[in-house]
Amino acid sequence: MALTVYILGSGQDGGLPQFGSRMSADMAARVDPLAVRLGPSICVLDDVGRCFLVDVSPDIKEQENRLLTIPAYARRAVTNPFDGVLLTHAHMGHYAGLVHFGREAANCRDLPVYCTEKMASFLAANAPWEQLVKLGNIELRSVGTRGSVSLQAGPGLSIRAIPVLHRGEYTDTVGISINEKLLYVPDIDNWDAWPAAREEVSKHEICLLDATFYSREELPGRDLREISHPFITDTLAKFGDLAKGRRIILTHFNHSNPVCDPASKQAQRVLKAGFELAQEMLAIPL
Ligand SMILES: [Zn+2]
Ligand SMILES: [Zn+2]
Repeated sequence: MALTVYILGSGQDGGLPQFGSRMSADMAARVDPLAVRLGPSICVLDDVGRCFLVDVSPDIKEQENRLLTIPAYARRAVTNPFDGVLLTHAHMGHYAGLVHFGREAANCRDLPVYCTEKMASFLAANAPWEQLVKLGNIELRSVGTRGSVSLQAGPGLSIRAIPVLHRGEYTDTVGISINEKLLYVPDIDNWDAWPAAREEVSKHEICLLDATFYSREELPGRDLREISHPFITDTLAKFGDLAKGRRIILTHFNHSNPVCDPASKQAQRVLKAGFELAQEMLAIPL
């Protein structure tokens, strides 16, 4: 069974354009659909339309529209829009789209939602998410809290959740490995806080990594301790040698990130270093 990963959203949680912002990149994206970047999410689709979603962004409606242009997805039976979901953590860009899974919208039935025990407790204890659990729209399944945990998410699809350190007001955070081939870490405080970072990147043929900000110049006046993401300049230094033997695709771009414009000198520097920049609906065969 051939599996394909699609990048459903390459933006940071607020996407591009970002609500409330009048920066030039946001104003440009409001009139140029090609410049738009949706909230962070990927999915794994097989030939017969089985589809597993990783994170539910607030842009899930538009992401479904885009998925419906893919014949394999358009052919699937419509009981639930997805066969399973995994949530990495409880920051708004990664789970708030769950509001569409309830009775006011998709009214899903027993949709398996995989997450850490902390995340499951958070969803089960707080409105409006707890209603999704009570009404049987979603069924919470734990990926564990310690170390790596594997789950069989469907035929030929194995997911390993990898705990990573990331600003955790409500829950902990995981990255994931899909079939030990593709690594997805959209949010992490910094690479040095993850002792297995180089080992995990080395193990995977394709890595989609947190690239929220390009450099500290992008954030004048901000306390660096408040920034819970690595800078792209650090990522190029940390994994530059590993970019030769594998695809390292940068993603989760903040609206202020100059690499959102592929013509920028910063984007060119990333490409020259052998890294790729995520594009909306990029298809990655596994
Ligand atoms: Zn995020
Ligand atoms: Zn986050």
